[in-house]
Amino acid sequence: MNVQDLIRPTVKALKPYSSARDEYQGNSDNMVFLDANENPFENGVNRYPDPQQRTVKSLLSKIKGISQQNILLGNGSDEVLDLIYRAFCEPNQDNIITLPPTYGMYSVLANINAILIKCVQLDENFQPKVENILEIADSNSKLLFICSPNNPTGNSFETKSIERLIQEFKGIVVIDEAYIDFSNEDSWIIRLNEFPNLIVTQTLSKAYGMAGIRLGICYASEEIISVLNRIKPPYNVNELTQQKAILQLEQNKITKQQVQAILNERDVLVDKLSEIGFISKIYPSDANFILAKVDNATMRYNQLIEKGIVIRNRTTQPGCENCLRFTVGTPEENIILINTLKTIQ
Ligand SMILES: *Cc1c(COP(=O)(O)O)cnc(C)c1O
Repeated sequence: MNVQDLIRPTVKALKPYSSARDEYQGNSDNMVFLDANENPFENGVNRYPDPQQRTVKSLLSKIKGISQQNILLGNGSDEVLDLIYRAFCEPNQDNIITLPPTYGMYSVLANINAILIKCVQLDENFQPKVENILEIADSNSKLLFICSPNNPTGNSFETKSIERLIQEFKGIVVIDEAYIDFSNEDSWIIRLNEFPNLIVTQTLSKAYGMAGIRLGICYASEEIISVLNRIKPPYNVNELTQQKAILQLEQNKITKQQVQAILNERDVLVDKLSEIGFISKIYPSDANFILAKVDNATMRYNQLIEKGIVIRNRTTQPGCENCLRFTVGTPEENIILINTLKTIQ
């Protein structure tokens, strides 16, 4: 397989916009910058941000053990996913494959970009049906979305299944690792060199505690990263986001401690939830949330709302009838949740 053959012709032919900050990248000390029509009076954000976010990338590169050349950043992973669609999928011609129940944005972005969606539902253990997926793929199937750990089910997919899909699917495989920092599994970024058709996405929105700054990460071969760089808006990650990300990533120890605390709380929550009479099943979680089956999801959801607790009702998702998704909160929040669940039994 040749990645070049998967890129949309219009994107291949594109000459990217070259910003002022792209054209001059030399030393910035003692230089007078009169190239970008900025207001010259200093206020912390009067200058355009680094279009390549080099300081953020260098920190991520150290934390994740991967070269900066293999990283692209976006305004949330939602922007990264949108760039992937626009790089590879020809509207009204190509299709993508998703594995429901899963993250809703894959379908939303497909619909926005006029791309057909092929669905292969996960099996009863929420694992991918590898044969069926490979069978449904055709020559216009450009992207296969694998979310592992999966949202809303919480489980990770078997390594062997994912490996076979990357090897045998003839398009790009996107592994969404939004929850990887909560997982015992290795990230697939350590195997990018083996698979030219692999893209891994991550985010600072979950484990890193920065959903508000909107910073999504894409890891892929230099070839794929350069294609996405061609089509990304020049200043897609703003200055405040970059500054905040740098501050947080420099204190990565805190993130690690918080992740450990959340995982401990997840165990506590699983224990306590199993004592609630109307909860019939708690699905194993490799993430910071728990999917549970109840007697009547919509009724329980509404009861919790009335008591001031908002969870996610997933009952309309295929394979998730009467399922609720609980995000792991602080110890105090989790106690409130459990006490409230006891009162509505
Ligand atoms: C929360 C989540 C994301 C995060 O998206 P951002 O745009 O980076 O906040 C991505 N994928 C999945 C599966 C998620 O649950």
